[in-house]
Formats: sequence, structure tokens, C-alpha cells
Amino acid sequence: MNIHEYQAKAILKDYGVAVPAGGIAFTPDDAVKVAQTLSGPVYVVKSQIHAGGRGKGGGVKVVKSQDEVSAEAERMLGMTLVTHQTGPEGKKVGRVYIEEGSSIATELYLSCLVDRATSKISFIASTEGGMDIETVAAETPEKILTLGIDPATGYQASHGRRIAFALGLKGDQVKQCTKLIGQIYQAFTEKDMSMLEINPLVVTEEGNLICLDAKIGFDPNALYRHQDIIELRDLTEEDPAEIEASKHDLNYVKLDGEIGCMVNGAGLAMATMDIIKLYGSEPANFLDVGGGATKEKVTEAFKIILSDPNVKGILVNIFGGIMRCDIVAEGVVAAAKEVNLSVPLVVRLEGTNVEMGKEIMANSGLPIISGSDLGDAAQKVVKAVREA
Ligand code: GDP
Ligand code: MN
Repeated sequence: MNIHEYQAKAILKDYGVAVPAGGIAFTPDDAVKVAQTLSGPVYVVKSQIHAGGRGKGGGVKVVKSQDEVSAEAERMLGMTLVTHQTGPEGKKVGRVYIEEGSSIATELYLSCLVDRATSKISFIASTEGGMDIETVAAETPEKILTLGIDPATGYQASHGRRIAFALGLKGDQVKQCTKLIGQIYQAFTEKDMSMLEINPLVVTEEGNLICLDAKIGFDPNALYRHQDIIELRDLTEEDPAEIEASKHDLNYVKLDGEIGCMVNGAGLAMATMDIIKLYGSEPANFLDVGGGATKEKVTEAFKIILSDPNVKGILVNIFGGIMRCDIVAEGVVAAAKEVNLSVPLVVRLEGTNVEMGKEIMANSGLPIISGSDLGDAAQKVVKAVREA
């Protein structure tokens, strides 16, 4: 789960991290009221969307008066901001963050993530702040330090010093950096973050380290123990079909292809997507209905798949282990009738009561195409979509 920059900064501030003073606004009037509480005359007006690259897209503006704060807030609120991270459709700006301006001497890069390959929490630091780290990694990888911290032994000041030296910091800034890394490490682990990025981390003209931007992603599996984080969720930033799916406890991720998939088990869902690609088409979604899917759940899953106008055919691939194939077949038939299915449907069933399941589908009066195995089913759905 992702949150906004201003929410991320509030969390970091709770851990003692230096961030500029600021406040959130939903209207231009609010924006001016926030500015009045800050020490001017320089302010920064920042669009709050769950995507980076806002600066280049016109979503971040440094201004020199409260009148300009009002004008920029007016311009940004309600606009569709397109950045290289939003995709061409962009994201609508519903709130702006107003901050005190900072005088920047240098822009640095700092991030922290769960590194699955090493089972550590890795910090990534670079002197090339304000740029895309992907570009730095591709063109000048020697300018990036990756430092893993073993969660068993935790953070030590020596980690902070190594990062400070990689960032080219001197004197008191080394101390500030050592403290900062410790605070970030604590926030990261206590709040079960999966990713935190500060780009840029700046050294001000006065020589202080301060976080000018902050992005945080949380591990969804740990959200149950962070009610305060769950409350930060902004549903307007999420795909409506994905929100609907999460209400029914379905793991659904929308993709760009034309074949809707309904599968039980994440591994089987991945294999199904792969084999659709192998036979020349593209999956429209990832969907894992889970181990104990009911007829109702299967119906909801069908509705969600069909709410995507790109879907030209559906492939159902179910392995009946805990689930019985006859129950699945009943669910598929009922769902197909309820939603008035208008695209080709290929079903591959395997496992417990598979013959009963196939019989239910064959006697349903619906034009359900049966697949004998995964490869056969994938080929049949791709062919049916081509011919339709
Ligand atoms: P992003 O483009 O979405 O990553 O948004 P950022 O929060 O990183 O802002 C983009 C850029 O705006 C930063 O890299 C800074 O160069 C600039 N910026 C942000 N805040 C300030 C500020 O207080 N003063 C000045 N001079 N520039 C700022
Ligand atoms: Mn940034």
C-alpha cells in the first residue's frame, strides 16, 4: 500500500527526521491558510499523487508570495497530472501540500527497501539526487552505494558513516546522516515498510540535511497490525476494479491484455499468464480467487473481469484440491448466466470430481469450451478470441 508524500513526511517526522514545515490543503483558501502558519516568503506548492516525476510534469512549484500559493493551488487542484510514472492517462490532483521553501546546496538520493535476495534491509545512497535512480544505475553505477543491514544485528553507527562518506558529507553532516539513517531504519522496521525513497535528500545552504521528498510503500501482509497506516489509504489513487476485488477478498491486478484469467492459487495464476503469452496473446489481469472460492466469489470475479472493456475472452483455470471441481463448475455456470456472458469462455478443470464438473458444464446449455490441459486451454482461448 502506498501513501502520499505529506503522510510519509509526517511519519518520518514522528521518528525525529528533519522535514520542512508544511500542511495539506484541499482548496486554494486552505492553501493560503497553511501558508500563513509558515515562515515565508518562499513556499513550495506540491501536488499530492501516488507517483513521482511531479516536478518535471509541473506538479511542484516554488513560489515567492501567498498570492502565488493561492494561484498555484488553484491551478493544480483538479488538474490531471501526467508524469513518466503515471502513464499517459495521468492522475487527478485532489490535494496539495504547502511547504516552507528550503535553500538547496546539494541534492542527494537515499532509499531503503527489503532486499529479498540477501534477506537484509538495504539502503541505497547516491550523490546524484533529484534524478531517476534507474538512470544513474544504468549510466553511472559507480555513483551508487548499496548497503545491507542484517535485521538480526540491526542498525549500527558504522552503517550511517559509510553512507555519509558515499554521499560526500563532511563534519557535522556525517553526524546528522548517522542519526538520520538510524531514524529511518527504526521507522522502516517498526512500520513494516517495504520501500522508502527520499529523492532528494538535500544539504541546505545552512549545512543541514533535510528530506525534501518522501515516498513510502507498506507491506500489505503486515497492515493488520497498523490501523494508523490503513487510515492513510487514499482510494481515489487506486484502480476501482482492484478496490472492488479487495472487498471480496480476491487478489486481482489489472493488466493491459485481452484475455481475462480466473485461477485459484497465485503460482497457477502466474503460469496461466505465461502460457497465454506463449500462445501469442496477453493477459488482461492477474486473478487468484483463492483456495476456498464459493459460487458467489466466482460470480464477483467474473463481474470484475468483465468490467474491463479490453477483455475479449476468459480463461478459467482451476485445480480442485481443497476445492471440488463440481462446485467450481456450478459457480462458473451460474456466474456466466448471471452476467450474460458475451465473450468466449474456456474452462480447464483438474482434480477432485473433475468428471462431474465437466458434465455440469456440458449440460449447462452454455457455449463453454472445455480445455483438457493448460496448454490446450490457452491455445483454445487465444484461437476463440481471434475468430470472434
Ligand atoms: P518529484 O518530482 O515528484 O520527485 O517531486 P519532488 O518533491 O522531488 O520535487 C521535485 C524537485 O523540486 C526537487 O528535486 C527539488 O529540486 C525541487 N524542490 C522541492 N522542494 C523545494 C524547495 O523547498 N526549494 C527549492 N529550491 N526547490 C525545491
Ligand atoms: Mn522526488
